[in-house]
Amino acid sequence: MLATVLHGPRDVRCEEVPEPKILKATDAVIRLSASCICGSDLWPYRGLNAVATPMAMGHEYCGIVEEVGSAVTSVKPGQFVVGSFCLSDNTCPHCRFGFQSSCAQREFMTGAQAPYARVPLADGTLVGTPKLPPDDLIPSLLAVSDVLGTGWYAASAARVEEGSTVVVVGDGAVGLMGVLAAKQLGAGRILALSRHKTRQDLALFFGATDIIAERGEAGVARVKELTDGVGADAVLECVGTKESMAQALRCARPGSMVGYVGVPHGVELDGQQLFFSQVGMLGGPAPVRRFLPYLMDLVLERRIEPGRVFDLTLPLADVAEGYRAMDERRAIKTMLRV
Ligand SMILES: [Zn+2]
Repeated sequence: MLATVLHGPRDVRCEEVPEPKILKATDAVIRLSASCICGSDLWPYRGLNAVATPMAMGHEYCGIVEEVGSAVTSVKPGQFVVGSFCLSDNTCPHCRFGFQSSCAQREFMTGAQAPYARVPLADGTLVGTPKLPPDDLIPSLLAVSDVLGTGWYAASAARVEEGSTVVVVGDGAVGLMGVLAAKQLGAGRILALSRHKTRQDLALFFGATDIIAERGEAGVARVKELTDGVGADAVLECVGTKESMAQALRCARPGSMVGYVGVPHGVELDGQQLFFSQVGMLGGPAPVRRFLPYLMDLVLERRIEPGRVFDLTLPLADVAEGYRAMDERRAIKTMLRV
């Protein structure tokens, strides 16, 4: 089959690879309904994470179960499923505590920018739907797999609740999903930091009440101004740079939480500053599996439309252009037809 392989910096190709097979009794193989490119795929694409050997790309997926291993009991061939980018057994102490992304057996999904993919730990990882969903819901169901699940975790970790004033740092796909999540969780006010018109418009569509175009000092000052000098009740950090993390912490009021889901690159925290800020932090790879059943229901009931985050759709054969468009910020998030 033709699938996506990263060979080195800015060298991503759609090329012939062997079809995935069941390797363990706990595996499933799925036929993808659609796939997509993640912001985190850009780190190795840009050469910021070393690529020692060619890498099979793609960790966001939904589709139809093709085949299951002998130990798999919760899903069956022909069923439509969504899974998380973190593969988990959903039975160990961390999974039972709601942190499936720290599962004792955790693996990370790979090879999903392809027509078929192998999903290890299928019983713990995959959630099926009672019947095949209509085609127009596929983009939104695909979004649940990572980008929405991650934005949702940021809002959950930041303890967004009814009436909260929320700041969302980052106008990428995850930040936009953080806006959607904050809105669903009942936030009274959602301040989205963005300087780009198309992203601002999407943030407003997903529920932002205020757009802050200023950055750094000026951005923090604007948040303070809009919150009577107090700061936000909850802050979602969806970038992962030193600047974005500093901004997130400085927008947060004492006693609040920062939910941080941008993979940190070059972030260092000052102990004294953190101590006196009285701000809590919870983040890391999102335990999407915890939220999957609920978020899939919201999509199936057409109460949310996270699929709107895909602003470019390409055939898998043009995957290189999909990466380029996101790298150059011409696209927020690329969906791939497989
Ligand atoms: Zn586990």
